[in-house]
Amino acid sequence: MVRINENYLKLKAGYLFPEIARRVNGFLAENPNAPIIKLGIGDVTEPLPAACREAMAKAIDDMGDRANFKGYGPEQGYAWLREKIAVHDFQARGCDIDASEIFVSDGAKCDTGNILDIFGKDNTIAVTDPVYPVYVDTNVMAGHTGEADESGKYGGLTYIPITADNDFVAQIPTEKVDLIYLCFPNNPTGATATKEQLQAWVDYAKANGSIIFFDAAYEAFITDESLPHSIYELEGAKDCAIEFRSFSKNAGFTGTRCAFTVVPKNLTVTASNGQAVQLWSLWNRRQSTKFNGVSYIVQRGAEAVYSEAGQAQIKTLIDFYLENAAIIRRELQAVGFDVYGGVNAPYVWVKTPAGLSSWDFFDKLLINCNVVGTPGSGFGAAGEGYFRISAFNSRENVLEAMKRITTTFQ
Ligand code: PLP
Repeated sequence: MVRINENYLKLKAGYLFPEIARRVNGFLAENPNAPIIKLGIGDVTEPLPAACREAMAKAIDDMGDRANFKGYGPEQGYAWLREKIAVHDFQARGCDIDASEIFVSDGAKCDTGNILDIFGKDNTIAVTDPVYPVYVDTNVMAGHTGEADESGKYGGLTYIPITADNDFVAQIPTEKVDLIYLCFPNNPTGATATKEQLQAWVDYAKANGSIIFFDAAYEAFITDESLPHSIYELEGAKDCAIEFRSFSKNAGFTGTRCAFTVVPKNLTVTASNGQAVQLWSLWNRRQSTKFNGVSYIVQRGAEAVYSEAGQAQIKTLIDFYLENAAIIRRELQAVGFDVYGGVNAPYVWVKTPAGLSSWDFFDKLLINCNVVGTPGSGFGAAGEGYFRISAFNSRENVLEAMKRITTTFQ
């Protein structure tokens, strides 16, 4: 008899984005001409930087020329891209990360899920609440959790609340956990972590033999000079942290697909036979076996992010989205909303007015303003009473959406 991975049956059926789509489609069926503006899903809207497009066009020409044609590339990514990443993203910030510790991939989403392949089943796992849902769902799929309760919390996971009550700072757990997911700048709250706050996590991980999965997909949005961009800026992080990065949000590669994961070579875990095992070797083995690399064309596009023109163009892109976030913050604050994030991050996290639930506020915005955002409760129980508004949109749409919201809620 064929058996399925029954852990999939534990996943909550009403996943956030399908439910949003269901409500929006229901509304549109009755109001087909409603001028809906979507400030919900965190996809980028602005075109790819010219430097990346030009590099990819040239790479296509390479592929049409026998002398420069590329077949299978290294599973870990081309050395020229890994070298640029190591120099610009890490060594330039004082992090001792070598190109060989960088694994180029087709997404931080896949990597944050796939990383579980190299860890055992019995680890204790901590996530923040609210959280990027992929961390939780991939652990459910891997059989690392029990069933979900009514609030959507899965048995066996440690949830660390991040709300206005604790200034969106993830408090260090009192118990020992093995694997810890941290994401800064944070999706969905837009909060950031200071060096001191992250150092406390690194110290905790080292003291407890834990591993931190640090998702820095939004690091490019950090404008405050004092904030760390990488966990490896903290003392000791190379002994306890794996970092995930992406070209999706800094260079608009959400549809082009390129990302990377950093696994330091000195990061070891003791196996049941007492042997110290290098996580780098396991991840290298995993990638070499299950992954065949990112296309040459896309890696050339990613490489161009580090050219002078590329750096200038991605700065323009990020500044544009950050200005959208500033507009959203300013307009909502002007009519009395409590807003968080959106300064070093593309997400603005809004307290729903008059104690409305996240979904009630969603419906109100949809019906009265024809604006779609993301209910905070969809990111976890502690997100109830909050709402995420994304700055990834055209200026025109952001201004129009804010005009409608401020008129309705003034
Ligand atoms: N990590 C976080 C925190 C995200 O919010 C997202 C996308 O929204 C990703 C990772 C996905 O990155 P990628 O496009 O590289 O798969």
